[in-house]
Amino acid sequence: MKFIDEAKIYVKAGDGGNGAATFRREKYIPMGGPNGGDGGRGGSIYVVADCNINTLVDYRYTRKFIGKRGENGGGADCYGAGGDDIILRMPVGTVISDLNTGEILADLETNRAPRQKTNGDQGEEHELTLELRVLADVGLLGLPNAGKSTLIRAVSSARPKVADYPFTTLHPNLGVVRVDAEKSFVMADVPGLIEGAADGAGLGIRFLKHLQRTRILLHLVDLAPIDPDADPVRDAKAIVGELLKHDPALADKPRWLVLNKLDLIPEEDREKTVKDFLKAYKKATKYDGPVFPITAINGEGTKPLIYAIHEALEQMAKPEIPDDDELESDEENSPEA
Ligand code: GDP
Ligand code: MG
Repeated sequence: MKFIDEAKIYVKAGDGGNGAATFRREKYIPMGGPNGGDGGRGGSIYVVADCNINTLVDYRYTRKFIGKRGENGGGADCYGAGGDDIILRMPVGTVISDLNTGEILADLETNRAPRQKTNGDQGEEHELTLELRVLADVGLLGLPNAGKSTLIRAVSSARPKVADYPFTTLHPNLGVVRVDAEKSFVMADVPGLIEGAADGAGLGIRFLKHLQRTRILLHLVDLAPIDPDADPVRDAKAIVGELLKHDPALADKPRWLVLNKLDLIPEEDREKTVKDFLKAYKKATKYDGPVFPITAINGEGTKPLIYAIHEALEQMAKPEIPDDDELESDEENSPEA
């Protein structure tokens, strides 16, 4: 259960151009000798660590990088033009390995001169795995079926399972949420926190600690539960109770209320349902933070939420990436281990 952002790409440097095999032929110069120009160098592929990039999301979309072939040399000592180089910018911390052999080719964290190159002379090619250890900036909190997986699908390229039954998400899922061309943040979809989880009763406890490293918690509430006995106010309050019981420090983290499934409430009742919920919830929990009514399933209302999260994250300091030992212990505690 590591939080790893991953991408697989194919790179091939451009082949070098052919040298020309020509001979000098001029009047009055017998035996002019060879004068063919060398072929141009193929375009090389460089990897550059860029501290302004924090995810590998770009490499999910564009996955093939093929350098231009160098031009052939010509007669009369004309050298072929080199193919243009390709520069791949990746986050600091990206580990690049050969997909087929597993050999680590570059670690952009430890490499002081963060430049790796695939040569354009022979047109080297590699299938590469890119891996980046990431911290989730935003953690989703909420009962099973609140719509956590659906929200992450709506706002990111992650595709966690969505289903009608509880506990579909047994592993945290990471979604990279793209705000614009250069800005993105990471959202973690962790399994439903159920009542009693803080006493170790449910699966939730195993995942609570992942929330400790996030910077904002989104508390998702299903405003239109199918279960006729469900009471959104009581359930939402129970979640906060679990949080407090488990770790008071978690309770101090910014926690925003996200009211989901508005589409299931008749339009004319929506405003009142939200208002009534908030009134009762605030009374029960003294909550006075932000509130975002959304319909995760069609993305309605998620844009303002995403921008607000991004703004808030910009104002906060970045946490440290945990070291290997911490990640290993996460692995041991995962349900499959
Ligand atoms: P999770 O357990 O919190 O991850 O919840 P899921 O994302 O798996 O959603 C549980 C169920 O609620 C699924 O059947 C979703 O399709 C449904 N669902 C989630 N969000 C919405 C929504 O905004 N509107 C409607 N109508 N259904 C939703
Ligand atoms: Mg889920």
